[in-house]
Amino acid sequence: MNEYDSSRIFDLVKTIGFDKTDIKKNADCYILNTCHIRDKAKEKVYHEIGRIKKEFKNTIKPLIIVAGCVAQAESEEMLKREPYIDMVIGPQSYHKINDQILNYFRDNKKINDTEFDVISKFDKLAKIKNNSNKISSYLTIQEGCDKFCHFCVVPYTRGPEFSRPFYQILNEAKELISNGVKEITLLGQNVNAYKFFSDDKKNEYDLADLIMELEKIKNLKRIRFTTSHPKDMNEKLINCYNNSTKLMPFLHLPVQSGSDKILKSMNRKHNIQFYENILKKLKNINPEIEISSDFIIGYPGETDEDFNKTLKLVKKFSFINSYSFIFSPRPGTPASNLKQIDYKIAHQRLKIIQNELFEIQIERNKALEGYELEVLVENKIKDQKKFFGRIPKMTPVIINSSSCNPGEIIKVKIVSSNQNSLFGEHIIAKTKAA
Ligand code: SAM
Ligand code: SF4
Repeated sequence: MNEYDSSRIFDLVKTIGFDKTDIKKNADCYILNTCHIRDKAKEKVYHEIGRIKKEFKNTIKPLIIVAGCVAQAESEEMLKREPYIDMVIGPQSYHKINDQILNYFRDNKKINDTEFDVISKFDKLAKIKNNSNKISSYLTIQEGCDKFCHFCVVPYTRGPEFSRPFYQILNEAKELISNGVKEITLLGQNVNAYKFFSDDKKNEYDLADLIMELEKIKNLKRIRFTTSHPKDMNEKLINCYNNSTKLMPFLHLPVQSGSDKILKSMNRKHNIQFYENILKKLKNINPEIEISSDFIIGYPGETDEDFNKTLKLVKKFSFINSYSFIFSPRPGTPASNLKQIDYKIAHQRLKIIQNELFEIQIERNKALEGYELEVLVENKIKDQKKFFGRIPKMTPVIINSSSCNPGEIIKVKIVSSNQNSLFGEHIIAKTKAA
């Protein structure tokens, strides 16, 4: 979502004359769009500011703006801890960035704008063209969360669940497609909780409606969505994996733990039986579908037995491309007050689970060697006769080709693989001799 937000922040500041630069020293302004989900992400922001300080030691200081969830959570604290920062602006206030930049230059005073103003944010953004022309682009449809998992800061930093108007999303999708975008990933912290009522309250639209409406747009080739909560995976949405030809057979569905005891303590609102039933229904609808997941390791109270249940779940479902993290206590969340488990033990468990996940990934990728797969070409790799693309199940492919174009779906013969990627040759269809 930060990638989408950063791209929209750029669309905004472009209208008051800013442009992007790759040459760091030339920047008049730095906007650091930040993540607060784990402590490491927060500390990265301060390290980056340290680097900028060094870079500009003997020259005029650039304007430093911190946006995103760290800005939201730390707000005034951040301005005090790092006086080099000129402005903090939260994820629900960034539509006001131009006014705030002008205010800063007029009054020469530090700015803290961390209000929750989600409705006017999307109303304002709807008037600013989305210039993204990446073959695969993100589109935020829902923000915030009402689920309050005990480990998570999102409900505090992004605020309550909010779904954008149905037709506003379709308009932005059409704008992206007219820019050349071929794949859209619908975004939300709880994307499958998307629900929008028409003004007269007669019509209710959900994520499945949105997918089936996007399906009708001719030049759009692929649809994805992320991140989903198991509790909101309803039958109508599951059926889209059968009804839509453009929805890709891949779903990221975070489970967090294989232990019902831990899921309860996390306030996840689902148990393993419930989660497994969803996977079964998905496989029944489309046996091709692949699942990836998120795992939190070393959550307070996690015993060897709980951890082994997570390991068992990983082995049973052979997840692809999963993410696993050591529990990071986030200030203000209920889990931060619980007794933490020994870091060494958590670290050992993380290693074990990652070894298992990586082995599965390696095996799954190896099994694709020799096959001809459809790949959406996203971009040319700089200074090489190679292109980057993805198969429907999301795995990245490095393609040897002298004649393909970004935006095309081509056939690629997979010749080798590693843990993260496939490598293949572009198969050029032979035309019959006249
Ligand atoms: N809404 C999605 C769900 O509930 O399934 C997940 C979105 S959350 C923003 C992304 C991931 O960050 C979570 O699935 C979780 O694994 C991880 N995460 C969130 N808080 C964390 C914490 N305190 N420590 C470690 N990982 C965390
Ligand atoms: Fe965070 Fe997802 Fe739980 Fe919401 S449902 S609190 S975003 S982990």
